[in-house]
Amino acid sequence: MSFYETALYQIKRAIDLLDYQGETARALLEPKRSLEVTFPVRMDDGNIKLFKGYRVQHTDVVGPSKGGIRFHPKVELDEVKALATLMSVKCAVIGLPYGGGKGGVTCNPKELSEGELERLSRGYIRAIAQFISPEKDVPAPDVYTNPKIMGWMADEYSALKQCNDFAVITGKPLSIGGSAGRGSATARGGYFVIKALCEKMGISLKDAKVSIHGFGNAGSNAAKVLAAEGVKIVAICDSKTGICDPAGIDIELAQKIKGETGSLSGYPKGEKISTDELLEVECDILIPASLEEIINKDNAHLVKAKIVAELANGPTTPEADEILIKNGVTLIPDILTNAGGVTVSYFEWVQNRMGYYWTAEEVDEKLEKLMYKAFEGIHQFKNENKCKDYRVAAFAIASKRLVQAMKDRGWV
Ligand code: GLU
Repeated sequence: MSFYETALYQIKRAIDLLDYQGETARALLEPKRSLEVTFPVRMDDGNIKLFKGYRVQHTDVVGPSKGGIRFHPKVELDEVKALATLMSVKCAVIGLPYGGGKGGVTCNPKELSEGELERLSRGYIRAIAQFISPEKDVPAPDVYTNPKIMGWMADEYSALKQCNDFAVITGKPLSIGGSAGRGSATARGGYFVIKALCEKMGISLKDAKVSIHGFGNAGSNAAKVLAAEGVKIVAICDSKTGICDPAGIDIELAQKIKGETGSLSGYPKGEKISTDELLEVECDILIPASLEEIINKDNAHLVKAKIVAELANGPTTPEADEILIKNGVTLIPDILTNAGGVTVSYFEWVQNRMGYYWTAEEVDEKLEKLMYKAFEGIHQFKNENKCKDYRVAAFAIASKRLVQAMKDRGWV
């Protein structure tokens, strides 16, 4: 199964559970709009290079499409379609007034200078400007994009529109309408969900050992948030280097080294492991926080954790899901676990539109409420409907909300 087929498969499981047929099922499965662009960027050597970009709006039935922009060499249309589809269900799981969208540029940001990255970011926004707006489709950061890039994009869009229109994009720097708490929101949202699940399972989170695959925004902040709560992080990795230390990793030091050198390889303590070996580390909670399909049929049987909390988008394949269920591992799905990011993006958009800004404490309190409410709803639905796993329960709740809106608008 390709990643896109997997996303569709997960929705089909919910469609079967809810017994949707015909056009109702199709409306959930097929993206409303897909845009592919080719745009020029002036490179530092003076030459022009053409880049491919995408923006997919899976649905806008309950409000503007919403979702990040990914800069990665593997970006292609089907991946963006899959991620846009996941965003629709993610927003619906929390009950946000958004449909799902996603964008991306096929590029390797690690090979671009800062100037090239800025011109690429601005070029991409010029290429998709007609497709987005605070009412139509609101981008945000994703893999290898960050507040600085969102700032350039918000500026380019505002220049094109001849007025400041910062609500067109979220995850911006604080000085131009970013929200307090947005940087760590994905991790904090994940923490609230993990805490709620541990309570249900009778696991003491404070005594749990945690491994985290991926040390970007989601992974490194998750490590920081959990470590601050007194949780022991026994393994971490970035895209190349893994570190395992049963005595607990010094997350502040790891972040400092990663920040200064761009790699975890200089971390002086513990044992170096491969990124594959990280998945097999003895621990209670495994947090995949990197890319899709890293837990698959070849390695799922090696996972020793009791809980897998998906902070990345789509990190577990359906075959791996089956193996984890058979081995008694409880998985909390991406569309709930990592929904904190888009939830605080929603708060950012709301604050931009009212021109009044909340404190970090206010944002965190609002986030906590929504994450717990979503988790409780899914937990209850799973029990009432005797669902095999949390994933199908989450997809079903989301699909029901989207279909209700489609019916109310006369689309199905
Ligand atoms: N890229 C993040 C996600 O996959 C955030 C999206 C957003 O804030 O719109 O959920």
